[in-house]
Amino acid sequence: MSEQRRVAVWRDGTAVQVPAGQPVVTAFDQGLARGDGVFESVAVVERGTPRLDAHLARLTRSAALLDLPAPGDGAWRALVAAVTADWPSEVEGICRLFLTRGPGDGAPPTALALLAAVPEETLRQRTAGISVVSLGLGIPADFRAGAPWLLGGAKTLSYAVNMAAQRHAHAVGADDVVLTSLEGQLLEGPTSTVVWAAGGALHTPPVETGILAGTTQARLFAQAAAEGWPTSVTAGTVADLHAADAVWLLSGVRGAATVHTLDGSRRGDAGLSARVRELLAR
Ligand code: PLP
Repeated sequence: MSEQRRVAVWRDGTAVQVPAGQPVVTAFDQGLARGDGVFESVAVVERGTPRLDAHLARLTRSAALLDLPAPGDGAWRALVAAVTADWPSEVEGICRLFLTRGPGDGAPPTALALLAAVPEETLRQRTAGISVVSLGLGIPADFRAGAPWLLGGAKTLSYAVNMAAQRHAHAVGADDVVLTSLEGQLLEGPTSTVVWAAGGALHTPPVETGILAGTTQARLFAQAAAEGWPTSVTAGTVADLHAADAVWLLSGVRGAATVHTLDGSRRGDAGLSARVRELLAR
């Protein structure tokens, strides 16, 4: 597997690919010590990284929310070019861009790119669908909008809670999670955006709840609207998902994963997943 991993690091104004097993970050890096940084996951397909622009825009917004000096799109494009340069085009990849506060004391932030093959399990869930449990995050839906210290809307490196939520799902026999607010409003998945079809429209929760603005959801809604499929930002609940015609968890690499089971109840997709995938493939 080691030949299917790449690492590139930003050093002295240049992107350098380094051997995948070679250390590239000091043990004093604030990204390691505190999760103080931001990241993006970008799909690498035969055509390269067709969605890079939207991810770089979000990376810049995330960095600004953390007061992190960002190296600029030119640096990220150079890092992506360095890790993908000798990548086999038939292997679907996931490219992760990391920006951390670095070691501090005036040292520059750490910027690096990793590339690995998309895990088999992700590919399986893309076609087989997923079983999901709803879990409470314990935060009122309107709280993060007025609490910038909670970094709502930023894709930070502090994903330990997101990963713990997924492990909890696995422990109870599910694949993934829908997080809810204190009052039971829908938020997002730990690594995905919630979208449901109901009343002839596509729905997704408002970003004012502090969730991440999903690039895949934005793309789907733009394509759907152009085709005359109405879209709506809706403050829904888990009951709305049970009643919906179809539910998906959307993310750049896995795409639209159809939720076939929610809190133990089987549910269908009214044949809509094929249309959603077709819109996302454009
Ligand atoms: N919400 C969270 C918390 C995520 O981590 C992600 C994906 O990384 C998403 C939503 C979906 O974002 P995108 O569609 O841009 O991959």
